[in-house]
Parts: sequence; C-alpha cells; structure tokens
Amino acid sequence: MNRWRWSACGVVCGLMVAGSLGLARWAMETSASAGAAAPTPSASVAAGAEKAPLEDGKLRIIEFGAHPDDCEIFAGGTAILWSEQGHHVKFVSVTNGDIGHWGSAGGPLAQRRTAEVQEAARILGITTTEVLDIHDGELEPTLENRRTITRLIRGWNADIVIGHRPNDYHPDHRYVGVLMQDSAFMVSVPFFCPDAPPLRKNPVFLYSYDNFQRPNPFRPDVVVAIDSVLDRKLDALVAIDSQFVEGGCLGNATMVPTTPAERQSRCQQVRESFTKRFADIADRCREKLIELYGEQDGKQVRCAEAFEICEYGRQPTKEELRQLFPLVPQKK
Ligand SMILES: [Zn+2]
Repeated sequence: MNRWRWSACGVVCGLMVAGSLGLARWAMETSASAGAAAPTPSASVAAGAEKAPLEDGKLRIIEFGAHPDDCEIFAGGTAILWSEQGHHVKFVSVTNGDIGHWGSAGGPLAQRRTAEVQEAARILGITTTEVLDIHDGELEPTLENRRTITRLIRGWNADIVIGHRPNDYHPDHRYVGVLMQDSAFMVSVPFFCPDAPPLRKNPVFLYSYDNFQRPNPFRPDVVVAIDSVLDRKLDALVAIDSQFVEGGCLGNATMVPTTPAERQSRCQQVRESFTKRFADIADRCREKLIELYGEQDGKQVRCAEAFEICEYGRQPTKEELRQLFPLVPQKK
C-alpha cells in the first residue's frame, strides 16, 4: 500500500527547463506482488486506454518517463506524428511527481501533475497516459518494479518501448532506464509474471535523448523532425503548468503569474526555451537528419527528437526501423 509522503525537496525533469505539468484524474492501485495471481500493475490515470485495439495492424508504442513531464518532453512531437497516422501511443510516468514543486508536495501535487499530463495527452492526441503510484525521488530497480514494467509492456503488446538511458542525471531517470533494460528480455519469458501473457515478438527498445557523456554519449540512431507539430508539442508542455510555468522543484513564488499578461509572457518564455532546446537536438544530430531526410530537407530541419537503439531487445534492420518510424519520409 502506498502512502503519500510530504517532502520539502523536489525534482526537475529533463534538462532543467523550468516547466509545468498537467492535471489528471488519478486512482491509486498498487499491486505487483509476485507470482501467478498478481493483479495488474500499479496504475492510475488512463485517458482512453480502451481506444486501442490489440490487433489492428497499427504500431503500439509505450514510453516510460520518470516523472509526469518526461515523456512529453522527450517524445511529444514523435508521439503526435505516430498518433496522426493512427498508431497507438501510451505514456507512463513511473513516479507520481509528488515532490516536484517548490511550494507543494504529496498527494495534492501528484493529483495536480496527473491532471496536467492528462491534458497534455489530450493535446498531443495520444491514446492514453498513466501515472504510477510510486514516490518521486524514490524509484528503485526492484523486482517488484521490474514486474510492473514488464506487465505494462506486455499489456500494451508493444512494438516499441522508450525510456531514459541508465546514465541520466536523475536517479529516477536512471532506474527507469535500468528497469526498461531489465524488462527487455523478461517480456518474452513465459514464467516470469505468468499472470501476464508473454510477448510473442520482442519489442525494439529505445533510449530518449540526453547530453550525458559518461560512460558513453548518446548515439542518435533515429532522429525525427518535429517542426510540423512543434506548436502542438509546446501547447502540451505549457499545459504542464506546475513544472514549466511555476518552475517545478527549483522554482519560486515569483514565477507564478498573477495577471493574464504575466501568464502570457511566462508561457512565451517557456515556449522559446523549449524551442531552443529542440533546435539544439536537431543541430547535434544534423548528420543523422541528413542521412535520413536527405541533404536538402535534413539541413532545413529546425527542431527534432532523437532516439538510440538499446542493445537489448529486438535489433531492427534499417527496413524494420523505417517501418517503426513511418513518420520519417523516404530520403530524397
Ligand atoms: Zn524527470
């Protein structure tokens, strides 16, 4: 049984862009006990999970972020593009974000952040978003959590799984990466969590972008131009108010807008900051953009999201990768 803990410290997701999160209805249910009779994973929000049939020929993507804003930051644009083609995208925040604000914490903050990512999911047009009831700042790569992640990947019948690299700056990010890696083989093993049917086809596991260099820098295997959907992605990020408008755990009271004009100004700052960040990714991954999009189009991409193929899980051929990312046009 989880319980809320009040804490004065907080967590900043991603690369320290002061930001906000969305709200969402949220129900607590913690499970993940061992053995055959274990119930479904700890879960909360689900904004339209029922809308995704298991076998309709469309791709099924599940992304794990450590906090209620990470999936939106690292793959929000790609998620829009997948969703526009009818593919099924699920975001999972592995912690509930309950210390991610300078002035509030605990259950009320987790509820606020859950509602924020639900609103973001609506704007992005993804199939569903979920926030697990695990305390922010306290995620560990336990057997219980390995089971939870495995069950979620199986339950989504995923073709693609995305998560942080295990050398990310934040312990929750790192352990999401470890848990994803730990599940990469186990999702196919029938008698691990035998209550959840194993996947018949091992998914492709991907890391989301980061700038960390040790022990090895991020390698951009797939880079997606997001210029055509940038405004919508920024709309979704601005909806994550507690983090990006109010500054998250490292913000302060002066960041809270008190007038509509102040809010507009603050939201514009957030949009510009994120645009610069996504442009930086495009610049750092320019070579791969040109390889994928061709010389002319690759050079013109302004903002991008990038992914690295994890060496665990299925190793896709170039053609398979193209099928998994049909939103990347054929090179001219
Ligand atoms: Zn985070």
